[in-house]
Amino acid sequence: MRDRLLEVRGLDAHYGDFQALFGVSMHVAEGEVVAVIGANGAGKSTLLKCIAGAMAVRGNAVLFHGVPIGGGPAHETVARGVALVPEGRRLFPSLSVEENLLVGGQIGRKGPWNLKRVYELFPMLEERRHQPSPSLSGGQQQMVAIGRALMSNPTLLLCDEISLGLAPIVIRDIYARIPAIAAEGLSLVIVEQDIVQALKTARHVYCLQEGRVTLHGEAKTLTREKISAAYFGV
Ligand code: ATP
Repeated sequence: MRDRLLEVRGLDAHYGDFQALFGVSMHVAEGEVVAVIGANGAGKSTLLKCIAGAMAVRGNAVLFHGVPIGGGPAHETVARGVALVPEGRRLFPSLSVEENLLVGGQIGRKGPWNLKRVYELFPMLEERRHQPSPSLSGGQQQMVAIGRALMSNPTLLLCDEISLGLAPIVIRDIYARIPAIAAEGLSLVIVEQDIVQALKTARHVYCLQEGRVTLHGEAKTLTREKISAAYFGV
């Protein structure tokens, strides 16, 4: 069995009095692509925020390389090798494509990713390198967001709904690059509402419903019926 890179154990998360996650457990092996699926409000983004250090977590609920992380500050988590592609991309609108990418590299971790490699992965970004990021299409902006995260040379890349609001052909184009990213030895956690895309891309799938894991298993063993029951509770 491959080594466990990330282990989440009985994770609870709260926004004030509201509990968003209830005892969530999951693990990600080195070099593995894992998908977390679920409807709106299931707790997917909250789970990623807890792993990325953007939300406080109890002592050892999130272990990375066996060491407790979580509870921030987020830049410390990035320095350990965890990068988040946030929902909605959150590019710096006053910066060019290339400047956005360079911000991602500021943490100074060593590894295979640099401007040249990101432009090889997404050649259209090199053509637009000096353009302001808001002038790009939604799909191209998503590529910048992924490239910016890769520039920090993470060992774990967390992607929050990278297909949101994009045309199917653009989604396919972006997902077609995931194997090349994983081939560099990265592990990925992909949060998705698009079940078909998640099952195609990931080896292991977790389904969240109202803050609880309702199903998990190898993608190839999960039937549509099982997933519908876990996803919608029907
Ligand atoms: P979506 O696909 O809509 O982003 P999600 O599965 O990522 O959904 P979360 O964003 O993690 O779900 O939200 C889980 C629950 O926590 C929801 O009920 C949501 O309303 C609530 N929630 C999320 N962010 C906050 C916040 N900042 N303050 C209060 N409640 C929040």
